[in-house]
Amino acid sequence: MENEMPHFSNKVPDDASSAPFDLKRTPTAGQVTGYVTSHDLLTCRTHFANNRTSPCESPDYCKLCEEGFAWRTHVYLSLVDFRTFEHFLFETTAKASAPLALYRQFNGSLRGCAIRATRPSGMPNGRIRIETKQSDPNKLRLPAPPNIEKLMCHIWNIPYEEKTHARIADLFRPPPPDEATNGNGRLLRGENPPNP
Ligand SMILES: [Zn+2]
Repeated sequence: MENEMPHFSNKVPDDASSAPFDLKRTPTAGQVTGYVTSHDLLTCRTHFANNRTSPCESPDYCKLCEEGFAWRTHVYLSLVDFRTFEHFLFETTAKASAPLALYRQFNGSLRGCAIRATRPSGMPNGRIRIETKQSDPNKLRLPAPPNIEKLMCHIWNIPYEEKTHARIADLFRPPPPDEATNGNGRLLRGENPPNP
């Protein structure tokens, strides 16, 4: 006789490969709020070309650099929404992320930082403002941060394997000091990338 007992549990099985992580940007109206779950910022140079964002491959050969497309540094972190408890990825500009870098410097980690991102002008592509508030990550019991590099590779349709990790990590590298002001490359051609 088969055992037909139902198997109840308080845990939903986590299937990392199918776990949906939305990528959110600061909306024109409204806000993005949440607790940061990642320990640090992750930056990546990107190109906006052919109506999509893709990572810059320099210092290796980068087709889009070669074609003269400007690059822009994007900053990524993972957040848990205050109200919905959704765990998601947040993308912003290097310039807007300055308060996050300071928070990281003061606290040793971004994890547990409460943030609110808005566009005060209410204009499309208007400047992004990020406000931070300190909280104790030990009291929050935040979920473990996701592998942002892996999730972004999935979004960009780039194969991600542990063995190519060194190569992937090279895409996500801190910008040189002279880019710290706004993280954007010279506009070499007449393409105007939207603010994330
Ligand atoms: Zn490039």
